[in-house]
Amino acid sequence: MLLGNQLVQGAGQPLNHPRGTVRAMAADDQWPVCPECREPMEGVGLVLSRREGDGKRTCRAAWRCGNRHIWWQWADRPHEPLELCPMPELFNGNAR
Ligand SMILES: [Zn+2]
Repeated sequence: MLLGNQLVQGAGQPLNHPRGTVRAMAADDQWPVCPECREPMEGVGLVLSRREGDGKRTCRAAWRCGNRHIWWQWADRPHEPLELCPMPELFNGNAR
């Protein structure tokens, strides 16, 4: 699936091992919660894109909470804060 210059992989599909991924990514070994409503989140897909900062092609990991807010972060920078996903409809989230 092509979206502009971004290749979307697994959009809308659960990750194979969301719990294992969460445990591997969480800095403090806690289940990630939505920064907006504090609902627990699940991994919902990866988006391959080019990072403006260093020009590197890497993936964003997307997360969806119980209230269908969609957040994502660079998969290789799990300790950085989550960012609000600008394309929530890709992951069955609430459009803004
Ligand atoms: Zn939420």
